[in-house]
Amino acid sequence: MNIFEIERYATEDGPGIRTVVFLKGCNLRCLWCQNPESHLSKPQIMYYQKQCAGCERCIQACPTGSVLRTTDFGYITNHETCIACGACVDACFYGARKIIGRQSTVEQILFEVLKDKPYFLESGGGVTFSGGEPLLQAQELARLAFLLKEQGIHTAIETAGHVPWETIEQVLPVIDLFYYDFKHIDSDQHQHFTAVPNALILSNMQKLSRLDVPLIVRIPVIPGVNDSAAVISRMFDFLINETQVKQVELLMYHRLGLAKYQGLGMHYGMGDAQNLSKDYGQRFADIGTSKGLQVSVGAK
Ligand code: SF4
Ligand code: SF4
Repeated sequence: MNIFEIERYATEDGPGIRTVVFLKGCNLRCLWCQNPESHLSKPQIMYYQKQCAGCERCIQACPTGSVLRTTDFGYITNHETCIACGACVDACFYGARKIIGRQSTVEQILFEVLKDKPYFLESGGGVTFSGGEPLLQAQELARLAFLLKEQGIHTAIETAGHVPWETIEQVLPVIDLFYYDFKHIDSDQHQHFTAVPNALILSNMQKLSRLDVPLIVRIPVIPGVNDSAAVISRMFDFLINETQVKQVELLMYHRLGLAKYQGLGMHYGMGDAQNLSKDYGQRFADIGTSKGLQVSVGAK
């Protein structure tokens, strides 16, 4: 499996204390994505400009000429040509470069997360799969989740749902809780802001909601994208009229991912858009509550 992080002691991604396995590779390109290092399935070099001394040993060490000297962002990497050999990381005495992402077997990941089993059992927690889009690796994910279930461990997944329905069916028997993203009700707007239309996502959401599976729909509230009462109301109306969804979390936009874009040499598409507060989100939550949904403003 291609993963880029295993985060311990998480409390926002399911019940109890959780270990979150972040899978690398995504088929959407949301403008506001907080995890740009998850987009490509292959390993990438993250560069930390504040730690860089400008010695240029990375340039000399690179066999493919992939380290680029830039005025604004320092010594970033051309990920088209980088082969993730790690030579520039080894050459850097200042810890300004790091490989993000690795291939791990299902058994290796299982071994890692089982170290936290006592916390899971004590707190009613478990393992959450995030990304990226975890369902791009559905076959391995299903096997890993099956092995976790055998140990009595709760499993959750965060997905954008832009996959064939059969892919979701593959993991259905071994996932206890689905967090399902809902980003925009208009397909052309969805395409504009995430690079894919929303028809498949909405259709899968409808099907999933009709099954007896715990499901929480997550709406990221993003300035200039969907943060208007009119758009959010239409999204709530879709959930009420076209699905069996009861529970919704609103996740307020923040700029925490900005430094990662710079470190990867990527353009940040949100410009100067400012963080949205939970108070701002509450006015949208109230609309959903008045329509009969259970809506909370998430802490993520
Ligand atoms: S990982 Fe290897 S190929 Fe990629 S930038 Fe560093 S030295 Fe060059
Ligand atoms: S080797 Fe490290 S410190 Fe030297 S220029 Fe490259 S990133 Fe900066």
